[in-house]
Amino acid sequence: MCHRQRFYTRHARCGHLSYIAGGDVKVDCNSATCAHSAAHPANCPNCPQRLCTQWMRQAERIVRNTLPNLCPDCTANAAQGTGSA
Ligand SMILES: [Zn+2]
Ligand SMILES: [Zn+2]
Ligand SMILES: [Zn+2]
Repeated sequence: MCHRQRFYTRHARCGHLSYIAGGDVKVDCNSATCAHSAAHPANCPNCPQRLCTQWMRQAERIVRNTLPNLCPDCTANAAQGTGSA
């Protein structure tokens, strides 16, 4: 069934991934019985009977590049200072 690919940058210093906004890609399964596919007919007789797949698979995470720094969250935490414990 159809799903989305979401792209991330990996930050090597903390190991976290940060989401690259706006880079999502839809991967079409080209199945006529999947309501999300472009191959699915607009006036599908099966959909009212819920015979077609109505949901998308969980998004796939793809690491597009790796940076040697901290992720934005960890950078913000570090900027707030850790010495007050
Ligand atoms: Zn599909
Ligand atoms: Zn359908
Ligand atoms: Zn981090």
